Amino acid sequence: MSSRTNRGILDRLKKGVVQGAEGYVFELERRGYIKAGPYVPEVVLDFPEAVKELHREFLRAGSEVMVALTYYAHREKLKDVGRENDLEFMNRQAVRLANEVAREGDALVAGNICNTWAYDPQNAQASSKIVRAMYEEQLGWALEEGIDFVISETNDYLGEALIALEVIKQLKLPAMVTLASVQHDQTRDGYDYVEACKILADHGADIVGLNCDRGPESMLPIIEKIRSVISCYVAAQPVPYKTNAQFPTFESLRSGSGEQAFPLLLEPFLCNRFEMADFARKAQAIGVNYIGICCGGAPHYVRAMAEALGRTVPASKYSPVMELHPVLGARVEEKHKEFLADWKS
Ligand SMILES: [Zn+2]
Repeated sequence: MSSRTNRGILDRLKKGVVQGAEGYVFELERRGYIKAGPYVPEVVLDFPEAVKELHREFLRAGSEVMVALTYYAHREKLKDVGRENDLEFMNRQAVRLANEVAREGDALVAGNICNTWAYDPQNAQASSKIVRAMYEEQLGWALEEGIDFVISETNDYLGEALIALEVIKQLKLPAMVTLASVQHDQTRDGYDYVEACKILADHGADIVGLNCDRGPESMLPIIEKIRSVISCYVAAQPVPYKTNAQFPTFESLRSGSGEQAFPLLLEPFLCNRFEMADFARKAQAIGVNYIGICCGGAPHYVRAMAEALGRTVPASKYSPVMELHPVLGARVEEKHKEFLADWKS
């Protein structure tokens, strides 16, 4: 096992907000290294330098956690793309890459597991066995390569999330377990999101909350409810898209001609950096402990969020100073301020 930092995730959370950053799969797809559709992180083996570069960009922009790119690097998904034989190497390599970059700064490394599409509540006993085996093998390799904690995310089913939590706890690692919130107000196995988080917390999760699917506007109200009833740490990692009460998830967004925008037509709905900065401020104000970003995330958002949290990060060296623009000058800065004022009202 690689030598780990003394200050783990729980120590950091005790001291204040921890900033995360995700969206590796979406961003590396945009950069031409991952195939949309299966969304398997083959890039880990095929272009490791591309993965390291994105880790590094998030690190420079303020992320305190390098999340190993093992999202969908599980047995079921690798079977779909005919790379089942690469399973172990892909998982180990992803954790190694995260570690290499984490050491360039002061970041933690998170092992990562997610929904498997193998869990079936109608056949819970048999499917749980399959899911558990996938999590055990992935996290077993991750632990050997060196991780500080585990993020289990985009959980559609509370039942599947509880299996992940059990496996993480067996390994005696801090557990962050977050739910997908694709449906209106409950998991696919029928638990209200708030109740599901409470059950996860009662079962020993250290950090609970939501990630992916919802943008700032439609995620915050649920996170606020979760925060008000949960005593453990709370995480919020929205997607940077303009979802709202009518179209609460990025899967529900429709283009002008009525087409589903997810996942390849989403650009017109992107939030700007000020909106994501505003999310970070609001999340901090309501007591969210782990603040990040998910699919669609990119370094300029992460930096804007870090600065909204009062931090100066390595990439702040190149943060905008529009007064120095020869033509636009201070007018742009004013425009931004006006925009923010409008947006908040
Ligand atoms: Zn996501």
